[in-house]
This record gives sequence, structure tokens and C-alpha cells, in this order.
Amino acid sequence: MSNLILIIEDDKAIIRLLELSLKTNGYTPIIAENGLSGISRFLSDKPELVLLDLGLPDVDGREVLSQIRAISSTPVIVVSAREKEKEKVEALDNGADDYVTKPFSIGELMARIRVALRKATPVPLKNDVFSFRSLEMNVSSHQVTIEGKPVHLTPIEFRILKLLIENQGKVLTHHFIQDSIWGNGGEDNYQSLRVFMTNLRRKIEKDPTDPEYIITEIGIGYRFIDD
Ligand code: CA
Repeated sequence: MSNLILIIEDDKAIIRLLELSLKTNGYTPIIAENGLSGISRFLSDKPELVLLDLGLPDVDGREVLSQIRAISSTPVIVVSAREKEKEKVEALDNGADDYVTKPFSIGELMARIRVALRKATPVPLKNDVFSFRSLEMNVSSHQVTIEGKPVHLTPIEFRILKLLIENQGKVLTHHFIQDSIWGNGGEDNYQSLRVFMTNLRRKIEKDPTDPEYIITEIGIGYRFIDD
């Protein structure tokens, strides 16, 4: 692990803050103050993770994100002042791993960096079995148990749960889930998705209002909890 983190950001105060915090946490920051130098540093330095601002002086951060995604699956966390839900959703749909809104807490950002880096190192499922807290999923036999007791899931509920587990710790947008499960962009299935999520939670969560497994990211989507 090189511990190199590329910061693509034009705000000098934020650069200083990120630089200092990353060094303190054992990472080596590389700085690019605009989008084009960000892309060229990405290609030359091969960082393990990218912190990307959306409002850059030359090209839009979204363009930088799509150029990075065209060639690599390196984790990208968008760090931006843009608070509109729509832009958050768009960044996540376009392949960002996570999204942090300025002003952000350094503790939270560092935690999100750790999660994104851990996700980048895939842990192979043993015999297709996923186990987390008291939930166990056997992918090949299509079985789910909670505390050893079988839970009956419909095929769609099973696919939604599997999709969330495969992306444990990542926020999956409504759009992404709908598209993965129903295809065709799935735009018309938002109500169906909500119904499936309600039923799925009723089956796997002890208290669906205080979930142990699936968190709602309001206005964005869902995330399977990561320790
Ligand atoms: Ca900016």
C-alpha cells in the first residue's frame, strides 16, 4: 500500500486542512489545484484514493470523475460545497464511492476514507457465504438466516439484499438499485423499491425503525452497515 491520496481541490485553506489531516493519519497527500493536473497526477502517481472537489477552476469535477472512472475503479470521495441532493445522487450514480459536504468533520472524512480503502480490497466470500452480526447469506443455496433461523425472502428481496451486501459500506442510490434489479433505468419502480425495502427490513431487522443492517440515506438511497 502506497498510502498516496490525491487531493483535487482549488481552495487553499481546504488543501492545507486536508494535507495536514492526511499526514497526521499516516497518508501521503498529493495536491492538484485544478482538474486537468488532477487527471495527469492520477495517471502518473497512481494514488490509492482520490478526494475530489466538484467546483474546479478549469473543468467540472464531474468531468474529472468520469475520466477517472473510464480507466479505473480507484475509490473517489467527492468533497464538495454543493449541497443539493440531486448533485450528490448524480455523483454517486456516476461512480463516486462516497460524498462529503463542506464543511465536514475531519473525523468523519477519515472514517469514510478507511471504509473506501477497505472496500477497494475485496474480501472473497468463503463458499459463497456472507456473515455479518447475526445475519448469514448463502449465495449459492439462496438462503438467508438470522440467528440461525431461516428467513423467507422473495427472489427480488434476495437480489436487493445481495446487491447491498456486495457493496457493504457504500451508499447505493435509488436509481442504482432500481437499475440493477429491474434494468432500463428503473425510474418507474421507486414505489416498488420502497415496498420491497419495507418488507425486507421487516424480515431481517429486529426493529426496522432502528436498523441493524440497512440504513436509509434520506433522499439518496440505502447502505448496508459496515463495522
Ligand atoms: Ca472549489
